[in-house]
Amino acid sequence: MKLKGSLAVISILWIGLITISFFWNYTSAENKHEIIAFQTARSFFNLIVMTREWNAMHGGVYVPVTEQTRPNPYLKAPRREISVSKDLTLTLVNPAYMTRQISEIAEKQDITFHITSLNPIRPENKPSPEEKASLQAFETGASEIGKFIRNDAKDVFFYMAPLTTKASCLKCHQEQGYQVGDIRGGIRITMPFAVSIPLSALLAGHLAIGLVGLFGIIAGGLRLQKAYNIIRKQAVTDSLTGVPNRRSFTEKISTEFKRSQRDQLPLSVILCDIDTFKAYNDTYGHGRGDLCLKRVSQHIKNSLKRPSDFCARIGGEEFIVVLPETSLAGAVKVAEKIRKNIEKAGIKHESSPVYGLVTASMGVASSENEDLSSYEQLVKNADLALYEAKKRGRNRVVSFSSDK
Ligand code: GH3
Ligand code: MG
Ligand code: MG
Repeated sequence: MKLKGSLAVISILWIGLITISFFWNYTSAENKHEIIAFQTARSFFNLIVMTREWNAMHGGVYVPVTEQTRPNPYLKAPRREISVSKDLTLTLVNPAYMTRQISEIAEKQDITFHITSLNPIRPENKPSPEEKASLQAFETGASEIGKFIRNDAKDVFFYMAPLTTKASCLKCHQEQGYQVGDIRGGIRITMPFAVSIPLSALLAGHLAIGLVGLFGIIAGGLRLQKAYNIIRKQAVTDSLTGVPNRRSFTEKISTEFKRSQRDQLPLSVILCDIDTFKAYNDTYGHGRGDLCLKRVSQHIKNSLKRPSDFCARIGGEEFIVVLPETSLAGAVKVAEKIRKNIEKAGIKHESSPVYGLVTASMGVASSENEDLSSYEQLVKNADLALYEAKKRGRNRVVSFSSDK
C-alpha cells in the first residue's frame, strides 16, 4: 500500500541526510586540521622572516669563525672577516646564511626550512620541482601555498610563502637588480603534521543516530499502519452488526460485476428484509430490535459457505448477499437456506402476523441470462423480487425473471 512507499522514501531521505551529515562533519574536521596546519606554518615563516629582518637591519651580524660557521664565500662584503685577536676572528653572517644555520637546528625536530629562489646565488638554494612550482605561483599572485603531503613515509605539511624585497635587503641584493616589493624567492617549511580525524567515533555516532532514526520511522510507520487499518475497517463495517456496510457492498459489487462481465460468469444477489420489523420494535423496544438485527446478521453470515460469498447491511433491517460465480438456481438455494436458518433461530415475534417468529423475505436476482448494463440494475431486479415476496405473504424466496 501507499504508506509502505512513503515509509521507504522517508527512510531513504533519512539515510541520505545522515550520509551528508557524516561527509560534512568529516570534511569540516579535515578543514580544521588544514587551518591549524596553515596557522602553525605561517607562524614559523613569520618568525624566520623576523630574524632575517633583524639581521638585515644590522647589515648582517658578526659571529666567531668556527668549524660550523665558515666564512660565507658568496658574500661580497668589504669587511667580511674581522680579526679581533690572535685566536678570535669574526665573520659576517647575512640573513640567508643565518636562515640556513637555523634550518640545520630545526631539522633535529623534523622541521625543515629551505630558502630558495628562481635565481639563486648559492647552488644549494636551487628550488626542487615542487618549490619551483610554488615560486612560479607567487610570481602570478599567490600569497602562500600549503598542503598535506607524504614525505619519507611520514605525513607532513608543506608550506611556502614568498620573500619580498625590503629596503634593508637591497644592501646585498641590489646587484641582482631587485627593487623594494619584488619577490626575491621564498622559504619552504615542511613540518610533521598527521591529520587525525576520529573516523571510527564519527562513523559510530552517525550509525547510531541513523539506526535510531530509522527505527523511529519504521515504528511510527507501523503504528500509523495499524491506526489506518482500524480506521479503514471502521469505515467499511456496520457498527451495530459487525458485518460490512453499504460502502463496502458498493466496492464489492462493482468489482464483482466487472469481473463477471469480463469472465462471462454469473453473479447473483439476494436482498433480505426482515418481516414486520417495525412491529417487532414496537413490541419489544429498540434495544431488543438491535439485538435481533445482530442475530439475524449472524444467521445470514453463517449460511454462506464460499469464501467469496459476501453479506452486508445496507439499510435498517435490510441485508444484501453477493454470490460471485453463482447461477440463479444456486442463489435461490442459498436464499432458502438463509430464510430457513432465520426461521429456525426461533426469535419470538408475537405481533408478527406471519408466524409468531422473526422471519425474512428474500428477493433473488442473477446476471445469468440477463443483459445487464450495471450492477444497479441487478440490485433493482432483486428489489422487485423482494417486493413480490412481501406481496405474496412474506417469509419466502422469490427470484426475478425478466420473462414475466
Ligand atoms: P415489512 O415486512 O414490509 O418489511 O415491514 P417492516 O415493518 O419490516 O418495514 P418498515 O420499512 O415499515 O420498517 C422497518 C423498521 O426497521 C423501521 C425501524 O423501526 C426499524 N429499524 C431500522 N433500523 C433499525 C435499527 O438500527 N435498529 C432497530 N432496532 N430497528 C431499526
Ligand atoms: Mg422489513
Ligand atoms: Mg425494509
